[in-house]
This record gives sequence, structure tokens and C-alpha cells, in this order.
Amino acid sequence: MVESAEEIYQRALRAADTQGRLPMPPVGEWDTFPFEGDIRTRPLTPPTEADRPRTGEDPADCWRCQQGTSDAIWSDERWFVSPLPKPSGLPVVAILYPRAHHDLGDMPRHLVAELGPLIQRIERAIVSLGEIGRVHVCRWGDGSAHFHMWFMARTARLPQTVGSLAAIWDDILPPLPENLWRETLADLARRLAATGGTSHL
Ligand SMILES: [Zn+2]
Repeated sequence: MVESAEEIYQRALRAADTQGRLPMPPVGEWDTFPFEGDIRTRPLTPPTEADRPRTGEDPADCWRCQQGTSDAIWSDERWFVSPLPKPSGLPVVAILYPRAHHDLGDMPRHLVAELGPLIQRIERAIVSLGEIGRVHVCRWGDGSAHFHMWFMARTARLPQTVGSLAAIWDDILPPLPENLWRETLADLARRLAATGGTSHL
């Protein structure tokens, strides 16, 4: 049994101030927290009737199915890896997609069985680029309905960028120079293709 949005909202309001703001967590103690100064939580907004539909809930409207593998750096018969459209702050950000339109819950068993080994291959390929401290493997699925798994690598020896806030540091650190970004992606594609599939770069 899980609380409804209304139940959580009412419980949160009881803990909030008169403006509906919840107390701040102790971010001043978090070395990884990217911001400092006088900040506060946003007032909690009430529950909505329903979640906003994700893009591509109907496969006929799925941007990823329409785009296909045109931006892929690597693919095999059933999967492909694409970068973000432009450089960002972390040394490698790559996204794994199945070619066919599935979400995790409706993915056929043969694809699910391939997913684990593929996650390990991609992580190993990214780590082998060097200077990588950790590869965060994330499934955030609120934007697009087409299954996608993030691989967000952080640089070794930059202790502020450890942990889940690496995703925020990706927006704060200056974007990689374009040529370095392309070279890194090409290197990653070659390393992935060394254990199967095809590099597109
Ligand atoms: Zn799709």
C-alpha cells in the first residue's frame, strides 16, 4: 500500500511553512551540492489529475522511432547507443535504446536477457577510455516512452562530482570542446564494436 498524491501532499503541507515550503535538507554539509548561498525549497504544488503523457506513448508518434539510428555511434541488430545532441560537462554521456519500441515493463524477454550483459559492456568500454572515476547507469523515464538508459561518466579525482548530483554538474561544468567530444565518442564506438556490433563513427 502506497500513499496517494493527495495523502503525501496533505502530509507534506503539515510539515511546510505558511507558503507551502518544506524545510531545506542539510545541503551545506554535502560536498557534492553544486550551489551555495541563500536558497530555499519551492512551494509544493498540488497533485494533478494525471501525469503528463510522455512523448511517444503512441509508437506512431515516437520521436525516437522516427529518428531511428541516424544519430547512433554504435548499434547491433537490436540495440543502439546515441550521444546527447551536443557536448555537455561530463566526459561521456551516452544513451542506450532498443531499436524496437518498448518500455521496460513490456520489453520481450530476449531483450531483457541481453540488457544486463550490454550494460556491463558499455560500462567497461567507457571506463577503458581512461580518467573515468565512475559510470552512473540511470533509467529516468519521464520524458520519452521509448526505453532508454543513461550512462553518465564522471571524471576521476573530481570529488565534488561523485554521486547522483553528477547529473547536475553535467549542466554546470563547461561543455567539452566539440572536437574532443567527437573524438571521445568515436573512441567509445570503436571500443564497443570490439566486442560486437558496429561503430557508426
Ligand atoms: Zn519508439
